[in-house]
This record gives sequence, C-alpha cells and structure tokens, in this order.
Amino acid sequence: MKVSQYTVHSPRTLPEALNILKDATVRPIAGGTDVMVQIKDDLVKETELLNLSYIRDLNYIRDDGDFIRVGALATYSDLIRSRLVNEYSPVLVEAARTVGAVQIQNRGTLAGNVGNASPAGDGLPPLFATGAKIKLQSAASEREVDIGDYFLGVRKTVRQPNELITEVSVRKMKPGDYYFFKKIGLRSANAISLASVAAVLVPAEVLTFKEARIAMGAVAPTVIRAKGAEAAILNCQLTDEKMKEVGRLASEEARPITDIRATAEYRKQAIAGAVYEGLYEIVNGFRSPVNGSGA
Ligand SMILES: Cc1cc2nc3c(=O)[nH]c(=O)nc-3n(C[C@H](O)[C@H](O)[C@H](O)COP(=O)(O)OP(=O)(O)OC[C@H]3O[C@@H](n4cnc5c(N)ncnc54)[C@H](O)[C@@H]3O)c2cc1C
Repeated sequence: MKVSQYTVHSPRTLPEALNILKDATVRPIAGGTDVMVQIKDDLVKETELLNLSYIRDLNYIRDDGDFIRVGALATYSDLIRSRLVNEYSPVLVEAARTVGAVQIQNRGTLAGNVGNASPAGDGLPPLFATGAKIKLQSAASEREVDIGDYFLGVRKTVRQPNELITEVSVRKMKPGDYYFFKKIGLRSANAISLASVAAVLVPAEVLTFKEARIAMGAVAPTVIRAKGAEAAILNCQLTDEKMKEVGRLASEEARPITDIRATAEYRKQAIAGAVYEGLYEIVNGFRSPVNGSGA
C-alpha cells in the first residue's frame, strides 16, 4: 500500500489522539523512521495512521526528581542536545549518538524505539541498564510499566491497541557512576546493531562496584540483562582476568540467532569483547564517571 492510500489522522492534542485510538485500529506514527520503511515493505496492516507530530504537549524533556521525563515526541537529537540528559543519563546520550545518522536522529524518537520493540533498538539497553519506566495512556486509563516488564518478544509488548506511549521515564544516574554503551554493526552509521551492550556500574570504593546493570541488545528476542556477569563484578578488583571472565559470562547469557547479518557465534564473541572493552576503559581511566555537571 502507498502512504497516500492510508487515512491519516493528525490531532493537535493528546485527548483527541486517545479518542481516535479508542474506536479504530490505527497505527501511531511519530518520526516515521520505522513505520515508513514498514509501509514500503507492506508490513503495516492497519489502514489508518495516527500522526503524533502535531501534539506539542508530547515534545519535552523534563527534570522530575529521580527521573528525567522524556515525552513521546523527543528525538535522539533532543536527547543529545539536552544538558539534563547529558548530566544524568550519559549512557543514553552515548547510545543516541549511534542511532542511524543525523537525519534519523533528527526524526526518530526514543518512544518510537520502544514502540518498535526490536531487540536491536539502540535506545533500549540504556533504558534497561538504568531502570526506566514506560507510561501508557488510553482515553480511559493511565499506567506505568517497568522496562523489564514491557517487552514480550520481537515486536510484542504489553501495550494495548488503544494505548499510546506518552512518556519514557529515564532513571537518573548518580554522580560517580560509571557506564558504557557499545554497539557492533556492519558499518559505523546507518547500521542495525548485530549486538549491543549498555552498562551502569555503581562504585563502592575506588574502582570496585556494589551494583552493576548490564543490558544486551540483539542477542535474544528482547533486550536482556546479563545477571551472572553483573554478579561477578560486585565487590572485587577488576583484574584483566576478571574482566575477561565477566565478558565470557555475559556471552554465555546471550541467546542470539544466526541471520543474514551475523552468526550466533559471532554475536556471542562480540558481546564478550564489548563487555571486556567497556570494563577495560573504565578500569584504565579512559572513561570518566558521571560528574553531575553535564560536561
Ligand atoms: C536508515 C535508518 C537507520 C536506522 N538506524 C537505527 C539505529 O542505528 N538504531 C536503532 O535503534 N534504530 C535505527 N533505525 C530505526 C528507527 O530510526 C528507530 O527505531 C526510531 O527510534 C523510531 O522512532 P520513530 O519516532 O521514527 O518511530 P515510528 O517509525 O514513528 O514508529 C515506530 C513504531 O513505534 C510505534 N510508535 C511510535 N510512537 C508511538 C507512541 N507514542 N505510542 C505507541 N506506539 C508508538 C509505531 O506505531 C511503530 O510501530 C533506523 C531507521 C532507518 C530508516
């Protein structure tokens, strides 16, 4: 089907949008960087589109105590430019910089990445590593879902057809936390991740950690945490041997498939290498912790 064959609704307010979603099977569209490709490939079965672009109230990034509230229309470029996000979620900024190229970053939204529910979505591992929440609103209700409970499988989520993602709440990292985001793709821009990993480490003393969250993308039907690797990091010196072991544990927890882009074995090795590299950079002073100044 061509775009011109769809009925496109372009509401100006959120209540209007939720009202449209109530009665019909309509596909929301934000930046359109996934949906337009899916339309071209004839993968959009709905005949109506709900264009969110004109709902100004969904375009914000706000400070709210322990969270940064990211409205459904905030793009990757908005995240990259935001002092607040740079200050309190630099791991998300690091991931946003790897999405597509600048044109995609200018159109694509974080909420759209969540909505698309691809295990290779680059915005997702940082949301798992920091512990984000997804706000879902319908005409009749509102709820917040932990990121770990949101995805049910490839392109499957707990969102009901009458609900919109209106906000992604990004939990702030604390000054002193270390982090990394690593993406392995076939080239450096406009490449879907073959594997990706985001980590947030909370220090106990100098370079020993009391909390670790490692989230891996593109190696299972949804983004998954590497819980064995996380446990192995805690309260010990990260020697070279130890960092290799953590990488190996993460790779053992990955459950990738072989597809046209890479083999499962390659993806496992890529995860081991990416985790080791991220830890190596932290331990050897190539990475600064969150400093709370946005620098
Ligand atoms: C050339 C190219 C390169 C790309 N590179 C990358 C990359 O490197 N990394 C990466 O992760 N992605 C990449 N993408 C995919 C895409 O850009 C991202 O997934 C982006 O975040 C999608 O955001 P969007 O606003 O454009 O979403 P849309 O295309 O508008 O929507 C995506 C999905 O989410 C749903 N949706 C959107 N907003 C809402 C909402 N508020 N509530 C409920 N459902 C909603 C839509 O119905 C649709 O199913 C690339 C795409 C292209 C075309």
